[in-house]
Amino acid sequence: MTPNPAIISVIGSLNVDLVSRTPRIPHAGETLTSTSFAIGWGGKGANQAVACARLSRSRNQAQNDADVQVRMVGAVGADEFHAGFLAALREDGVNVDRVQILEGKKTGVAVILVETHSGENRILVFPGANGEVKGKRDLVEGDEGVVLFQLELPVEVVLHNMKIARDRGAETILNPAPAIPLPNEAYQGLRHLMVNETEAALLSGIENPTSWDEVAAVFISRGVENVIITLGGEGVFYKTAKQQSESQKGHMVPALKVKVVDTTGAGDTFAGAYTVAVARWKAMAQGADFDLDAAIAHANRAASMTVQKAGAQSSIPWANEVPEA
Ligand code: ADP
Repeated sequence: MTPNPAIISVIGSLNVDLVSRTPRIPHAGETLTSTSFAIGWGGKGANQAVACARLSRSRNQAQNDADVQVRMVGAVGADEFHAGFLAALREDGVNVDRVQILEGKKTGVAVILVETHSGENRILVFPGANGEVKGKRDLVEGDEGVVLFQLELPVEVVLHNMKIARDRGAETILNPAPAIPLPNEAYQGLRHLMVNETEAALLSGIENPTSWDEVAAVFISRGVENVIITLGGEGVFYKTAKQQSESQKGHMVPALKVKVVDTTGAGDTFAGAYTVAVARWKAMAQGADFDLDAAIAHANRAASMTVQKAGAQSSIPWANEVPEA
């Protein structure tokens, strides 16, 4: 084990994706034969934990030798899925000691129907064990450099642990997906907010923004330090509280021009690469400023790899596969 590795905790969901492809979506009462079926390990939490682990080392490097250690915190059911799921996470270098295995509960499941010709999907999520991570339990250990959150766990659990993480001096990163309106306390003292276009509009309350500066300003006024808005094929916009206080505009980092196959997992890859950069800075920095621009440019390049491959977790690259600046 590397001495004093940077520790990332991902506090979030684990879902089994059951994916069936069909020529068309069945009507009510109708049974159709699907053309393919696959089981995948997913959930925003688990996907982002995998992204953090892969993007902290090269494909053939053991996680123990990496300067970043990644811990998944959440819950699965003691069912037919959990052993395979946890084994897959371990295989990717994610520590699963803090994933609870709940007796009598089911692992969260997403039943996904994909219409082959349109690529459109219908998704039903059963939260299962994710929804059992209840109450104001402390999930933060206190040794983390960074704690990364999404919104697929009960919101009170997320809010409570964001506060604990902040109080214990960790860098907090929130990717509020799926977006639901949050109380102002969610944003107060939040170091990094990472949203896509849809989440930005819903959470800022600005439906038709005239500029991303305007949207970012809303989050900064609520207490966020670094606002990152991912814009799909357009790239990434970011603005800091410091820029805002100096009346400067935010920055736009254009997306790489690549051949897009499937954008699933792009946001999770971006989140993972960015989180690793924050963790490394936090472990090293003795007063040095975080190089937000470099972290975003790197995450943008990492996510551009994901869109060139099909699949969610399977398209997340390792650090050595991300193109150099
Ligand atoms: P989400 O998947 O959460 O909706 P986005 O669609 O905004 O997130 O994508 C996240 C990031 O992935 C983008 O900011 C960009 O870096 C990269 N990305 C997404 N779509 C493309 C694309 N068409 N070409 C290149 N990069 C892309």
